[in-house]
Amino acid sequence: MRSGKLAFPQFFHLRIRHKIILAVSIAISIAMLIADGLHSWMQERSALLEREHSLTVLTNSIAEGIEAIMMTGSTEAAISFTGHFKNIPYITDFKIIRYDGHEAFTDNKTIEQVNITLEKERYERRREEQHAPILQSNDERLVQALDTNEIVSYYHESDGGQRLLTFLAPIKTSADCRDCHASKRTRGVIQLTTSLSAIDDSLVASRKHSFLALIATLAVTILIAGNLLRRSVTGPIEQLMSGMQKISQGDLEQTVEIHRNDELGEMARIFNVMTAEIRQTQAGLRREQDKLTTIIHGADEGIVVTDGIGNVVLVNPAAEGLLSKTAAEIIAKGFLELFDNPEEMQKWLKQRTSNENIIKVYNNRLFQVYVSMIQDAHGLAIGSAALIRDVTEEKRLEEELRRLSTTDALTGLYNRRHMDYVLTTEFSRASRTNTPFAVMMFDIDHFKKFNDTYGHDQGDRVLQCVAKSFHDSLRKYDTACRYGGEEFLAILPHTNMDGAISVAERVRTDVENMVVDGLKVTISLGVAAYPELAIETTEQLVEAADKALYCSKNRGRNCVTRAEYA
Ligand code: GH3
Ligand code: MG
Ligand code: MG
Repeated sequence: MRSGKLAFPQFFHLRIRHKIILAVSIAISIAMLIADGLHSWMQERSALLEREHSLTVLTNSIAEGIEAIMMTGSTEAAISFTGHFKNIPYITDFKIIRYDGHEAFTDNKTIEQVNITLEKERYERRREEQHAPILQSNDERLVQALDTNEIVSYYHESDGGQRLLTFLAPIKTSADCRDCHASKRTRGVIQLTTSLSAIDDSLVASRKHSFLALIATLAVTILIAGNLLRRSVTGPIEQLMSGMQKISQGDLEQTVEIHRNDELGEMARIFNVMTAEIRQTQAGLRREQDKLTTIIHGADEGIVVTDGIGNVVLVNPAAEGLLSKTAAEIIAKGFLELFDNPEEMQKWLKQRTSNENIIKVYNNRLFQVYVSMIQDAHGLAIGSAALIRDVTEEKRLEEELRRLSTTDALTGLYNRRHMDYVLTTEFSRASRTNTPFAVMMFDIDHFKKFNDTYGHDQGDRVLQCVAKSFHDSLRKYDTACRYGGEEFLAILPHTNMDGAISVAERVRTDVENMVVDGLKVTISLGVAAYPELAIETTEQLVEAADKALYCSKNRGRNCVTRAEYA
């Protein structure tokens, strides 16, 4: 099956040329037929008028001749004279008809009337009579000719279908005739019928010639018009179409020659400008594409892009490195298999309405993944893209930073800032859920003296060991913090005063039993619990624990005191 692209232009050109030639041919045919019809009609009119004129002259001459002969009184001479006209080739019929419609010189009626008028037997009667009525006495045309004394002519057809022209020329009764024919102004008519077949034949022959001329003219017109159309219209259009076709197939190096200054020349010029523009735009796009490709290929982020039907069309080297797969593998397995978990990928694609980042652990690395559908200007999906960034180190540093910002460098326990945060959170939760919550605070006894005796470094080591012991004595959901200097604080969720006291005792005992580099220290502790104490802020709770701690100091140290008031 031929493609529409190839079939359409050829079909189109042929149709245009044929249509124009057909239209021109029809127009010429109609014009020539009208002209020919008019010419034929005028030719016929002129031939008929000429025939009418010559017959009028002839008829008048005959009428005058008959009158002259009749004046001699010789009917035979008149009959003989009129007989000649019957032999003229184009005269089909010739008769002298009396006013009553009968043929003259065939009976005795006129002779009798003339003899009566002259009151003597001037003319002899015919021995043989023929009563031949040619026309009815009331025949319209006969009556008209007799009444008007003018020639009446009319066209009619013979029995054989031949066209005939008949003249009825009145025979006037002149002054000289009145002696014999006094009673009538017009005695009768000369009926002269002529065949028009010669004229008709000539017309048919003329029409035949005209028809042949029409055919010849049409053939020449079609040839000339076709040639002209091909050179000036369809040829240039075909050239333009061929150029457009090549452009549609991606060949932009197309120009059309401009030979003329008409609309087609303008079209060719516009076409050339258009293709130059397209070439320029394409070159610009290619440059931009090259830039983009360079950026994509040089990017540290892995980039994978699909087309509208989901085929992977772009994999940059970073994506290969991050996913530990070759581009060919990624293309072969498809976009959904990027992280070997198509369901997860499908879910991300559907959820990608916000700019939330997805963090994915893959190949023992931490990836930040951005998955999105690519849409055109009308919102139609034209592909998908995945941007993969290795954030393993970044997250580790982030975590380290977070840890450093929340822990104390010397002891590794949580610092004061984190302590405040946990206190606020736990207090809020405890008051909301109406569950108990306690804090325990302690301070190393006579530590100034310890430092002074064993040195600051030794003091630090002891601090670290106390901190470890403190941390190890707590449950995993308790929070051990360095409050400042050699003071520590424990946050004990879900713990009432009694529970906190026992924790404090355990911590105290553990420190008491601990030996660091052969040295020992003791601690004094204070415990405050909510809701046993009607406190409203965490500061009040800490303050209560601190006061209890100082009570322990006052009580002789190395003991635990419960806070009695806020
Ligand atoms: P008391 O039993 O009343 O608490 O006596 P004390 O000497 O411990 O008194 P206080 O708690 O006021 O003393 C704090 C001392 O703790 C002062 C300082 O020398 C020591 N200290 C505070 N922070 C550190 C530290 O980070 N390292 C060392 N080595 N010593 C510290
Ligand atoms: Mg202190
Ligand atoms: Mg102290």
